[in-house]
Amino acid sequence: MKKTLIKLIARFIGHKGITFDGGRVYYWKVPMIVLPMDILAFLQHNLEKEFGPDTRKILYSLGKIQGKNGTNILIERFKIIPDAKDLSFFMEQTEFIGVGKIKMINNDFANCHMEIGNNNSPNARAYVNLFGKREKPICDYARGMFAGAFQAIFNASARKKEDFEGIEVECIAKGNPSCRIEIKRVSEWDASDPGIKDELPAIFPEIDEARKKETLAMLLKPPLESMINPETELSRTIKRYHGEYHLKFMEGGIVTIFGMDSLITPMDIFMLLYYVLSKRYGANAKKIFYDAGSFLAKKSTELIFNELGLRKGQVQNINIAFEQPGLFGLGTVHIVKKDTKNHDYIFKVDKAPGVHYSKLIGLKKEKADDYLAGFFNGVLEYLFDLKFSTIEEKCVVSGSPVCLFRSTGK
Ligand SMILES: [Zn+2]
Repeated sequence: MKKTLIKLIARFIGHKGITFDGGRVYYWKVPMIVLPMDILAFLQHNLEKEFGPDTRKILYSLGKIQGKNGTNILIERFKIIPDAKDLSFFMEQTEFIGVGKIKMINNDFANCHMEIGNNNSPNARAYVNLFGKREKPICDYARGMFAGAFQAIFNASARKKEDFEGIEVECIAKGNPSCRIEIKRVSEWDASDPGIKDELPAIFPEIDEARKKETLAMLLKPPLESMINPETELSRTIKRYHGEYHLKFMEGGIVTIFGMDSLITPMDIFMLLYYVLSKRYGANAKKIFYDAGSFLAKKSTELIFNELGLRKGQVQNINIAFEQPGLFGLGTVHIVKKDTKNHDYIFKVDKAPGVHYSKLIGLKKEKADDYLAGFFNGVLEYLFDLKFSTIEEKCVVSGSPVCLFRSTGK
């Protein structure tokens, strides 16, 4: 295929590839989570603080699974044999997932060595804004994605099965002017150098499990439900302000929702991250997801209410506030009980993240929607300036047909 044609297709399918059905956001028919970079940074910071640097390796490994599978989807769906000299088709795809604009610094395909630059990493910027500069790089998820993508491209074009790893040698979060990621064969990294060893992935049984569960066959399967669903009142209102999508695709590989830079990544991967962390670190990891959901809800409700000129105290605005999870791909919310006098609320959710969890992990005697529970709690605390607590009382993961949440104010 001619380069220009490939570029045109990349742009066309990039935008057309995104669909929204009121409760989910899809890219290439794969259900996605819209994860604002501030929330990713919040998770990174709190996980690392609580459980140490292994959490960076876990995030990197999941990014790698996604980079590899996402690239294989493109190869499979468009029957493209990657051209080592022109990887622009694959590089342009990254612009639709919100990780900034990638540039090739060095593409030494023959020697399997690649260097990628990103002078506008929204992940690094969000981290520095919230938590300040750090000594170690931060773009672990994107680094994993690029290493996984390169591995998939190399193996498809060379018809081989080799393993590659990427290290972020410079990062905006460390004070460098841009992020720079080097990708090489595993064997070519000097693992006896502690600085390099720290950055290379480690073996975690939960990651191996995750790798087996998130296969290409799984991703290429059509989604569980029909993708044609009515929009919500909130999404229609936002469209009147923003145009076709509630998501905005900006220059420089930035995707925003209500002005927040965001990562668009498969919900399956987010739930595998949740699975690995909650299995490894238990209730404290679940709590961090809950807090992240709450942090997001307070921020997004405030942004949306300001932008649309909605007032907190009005009852009809409560309904609008609870349509938000759908815009992030977190499911369709029905308010079952709304007792504003006694601060007692029950929410029923279809297509909650737990649906992905049960599809990947199977039925368990547990609940998996801490992030969404935290989200409900954050919305209520914002709306009523009161402390709430939210519990997921029933979850699809433990066999319920829908997820049920109860929030009570104190
Ligand atoms: Zn970086």
